[in-house]
Formats: sequence, structure tokens, C-alpha cells
Amino acid sequence: MENMFSKNVESIEISGIRKFFNKVANHPGAISLTLGEPDFKIPKEIKEAMKKAIDEDKTTYTPNAGILQLRQGISDYLLKNSIRYNENEICVTVGGSEALLCAYKALLNEGDKVLVPAIGYPAYESCGKLVGAEVLTYKLKEDFSLDIDSVREIINQEHPKVLIVSFPSNPTGAIMTEKDRDELHALLKDEDILIISDEIYSAICFEEYYSISQCEDIKEKVILVSGFSKMFSMTGIRVGYICATENIMNSIIKVHQYNVSCAPSIGQYGALAGLKDSLYHCELIKEQFESRKEYVYQRLKSMGLRVELPKGAFYIFPSINKFNLSSEEFCEKLLESKKVAIVPGSAFGVGGEGYIRISYCYSMESLKIALDGLEEFIKELSKK
Ligand code: PMP
Repeated sequence: MENMFSKNVESIEISGIRKFFNKVANHPGAISLTLGEPDFKIPKEIKEAMKKAIDEDKTTYTPNAGILQLRQGISDYLLKNSIRYNENEICVTVGGSEALLCAYKALLNEGDKVLVPAIGYPAYESCGKLVGAEVLTYKLKEDFSLDIDSVREIINQEHPKVLIVSFPSNPTGAIMTEKDRDELHALLKDEDILIISDEIYSAICFEEYYSISQCEDIKEKVILVSGFSKMFSMTGIRVGYICATENIMNSIIKVHQYNVSCAPSIGQYGALAGLKDSLYHCELIKEQFESRKEYVYQRLKSMGLRVELPKGAFYIFPSINKFNLSSEEFCEKLLESKKVAIVPGSAFGVGGEGYIRISYCYSMESLKIALDGLEEFIKELSKK
């Protein structure tokens, strides 16, 4: 059949992260630092709550927006970071992934412009293409922080309808500073633009937390995307959320309803218990990630790589520019010769070439073996 597939679907590919993860299967014994999946177990309170929910037959549909107590719990949790959304401004989704696509579908028409970071989570670009939007990119600074001048320039020239901001960042580990937040706010407050802020790593921030969603006076322009996959190490349970003022939420809910009806009930009860009783888990994993980050950073530095110290999330993004290999070639050769899998920077957009992403949400033991392999590989490359 001709034109069997949607042209929008044909315009995208499976994410480069998954591509590399899948390649590992062909290399028995390889160490993979490819996925953004914490190696911790789900906190026991969450497990118990999910078992109890099954035993109590809480297995029916929930309201489209999610169970009320969970939305109230999310509202209270966000307030700790000075972010204000009430229970009617929150919709529980099937992970942050569904939240993102719902926002894109609710806001963007074919041909509308969406402005995404030049180095960012692959979904920002792919979701844009999926809805037929035109995807534009803004540059980041050398240290991967927000380059407000780049954002301003493109907004002035192209007038995009939607801007994506994403801190703490996957893949760079950069965060939003108070100054960046205030400058972004000053820029956006008089612009006719909507902002989707992906804050899925907010619980893993090693410094004070700042976000554009803290700016009350532009709340009607901001859509916050977040979730529990990372903070409670529950990636497979699939619970996230999206927040927006009721005007925008009314449209988002329509997309969400026809997409999934509601997020899985059992996972929602788990997340609720987590917000009540497992916030200690976030502190615990943050501590672990901090020491792993220090270790990985020092190792990469000692290998002579140019690398920024991450300030959040659990990724580090060193430059491999000096080896005259594309990031894909670098990662292929590393996997072939040392059985170590990491993700080429090119998987994260136009600005990602020349970098590699190492996910340090793996055990210290795995990190050590993988970094030993990388070190040997680099020594061999340097000799050539
Ligand atoms: N945003 C970012 C930046 C991510 O890294 C991820 C997952 N890797 C998501 C959103 C989606 O996460 P999930 O669907 O598991 O909540």
C-alpha cells in the first residue's frame, strides 16, 4: 500500500538511547551505562501500598485526571519547591512520557513552531515531529546552562508557539540557576508563548532548586511535566503528571482521556504512598548519586576529557571531540573493543555531536569496570 504510514511517524526514528541499549544484547557480558534507570529498588512503602491496592480490588478505572488524594499529594509536594498548582490543575499520566506528548498534542498544530534545546531529551524533537510541528533549537552555553541570548534571538526571529525547558537536564546534568530563571522570566513575561518545563529530575538536584514554574505571574503560560519514575526508582510502574492552569488542562485532559483513559490505578496508589511515606528515599538516592557523580567526574578528568561537573539528574556528558571520531563511531568502537555501552551525544540533538552520555545510575562496581574500559580505550586511541 502506498502512503501506508503517517508521514509524521515516518519522519522520526526509535530513540538513539534505546538503539544503543538494544545493541548491548549482541555483546554478551557487556556493561551498559545506557539507560536512565536508577538501580535502586522501589521503596517498601510503595510496594506494600500497591499490593494492598490489589488486595482491596482497587483495580478499576480512576478519574481521568487521577485519584484525588494523589493530586492533592502532588500539589503539597510541589509546594516544597515553591510551585503552586491545586488538585484541579494536575493530571496524573502514564509517566512523564505521556505527559509530554499530551502537552504537544494539546498545544501544537501542524506547522506550529516548537523551540527545543540543541542538546536535550530526544522526545522533545520527536514529539514535535509526531504532531507535525516545526522544530527549532536554541543553543546552550559551554557549561550546558541556559543561553538566554540564544533563546531571545530565536523568539524574536521565529516567534515559536512553544518553548521547552528542561532542568535538571538529561543528558548534561545542568540545572537552572536563580539568575537564569529570573532572566528567562523577564524575557517570557511579555511574550506570546507557552512554556513546557520538564522537571522529571527535580528530586535529584545537588543545589538549590529553581524553575520557571515558580513564577506565579506567568502561570497561565507554563505547563509543568514531571513524574515518579526517577524519584522513587519506579520506571516500570509508569506514573507521571502534568500541571497547567485549568484553561490549558481542559484540553490536555481530552488528549489524555482518548489516549489512556487514566494512569494505572495500582501505580497511582503506590505513588500516593510514596509521597506520604517514602520521601526519605529521594534523600538516600541523591546522596548515592552525589558520590557516584564525584567518582565518575574525577575519573573522566584524570583521563584528560573535557567535562562539566553535573549539578543534577544522574548523567554526565564529556566531550570526545579531540578524538576525531563521530560520537556514534566512538561508542560503537568502545562497545566492540571493551564491551562498554554508553550513548552517543548525537542521540540528543544537533548540539550533541562530539559528546558521549554516561548514565551513572549504576552500581559503583559497574561504574568502575566501565570506566576502566573507557580509560584503556582512550589510551589506545591516543596512541594511534
Ligand atoms: N523527561 C526526561 C528528561 C527523561 O529523561 C525521561 C525518561 N528518561 C522522561 C521525561 C520520561 O520519563 P517517564 O515516562 O519514565 O516518566
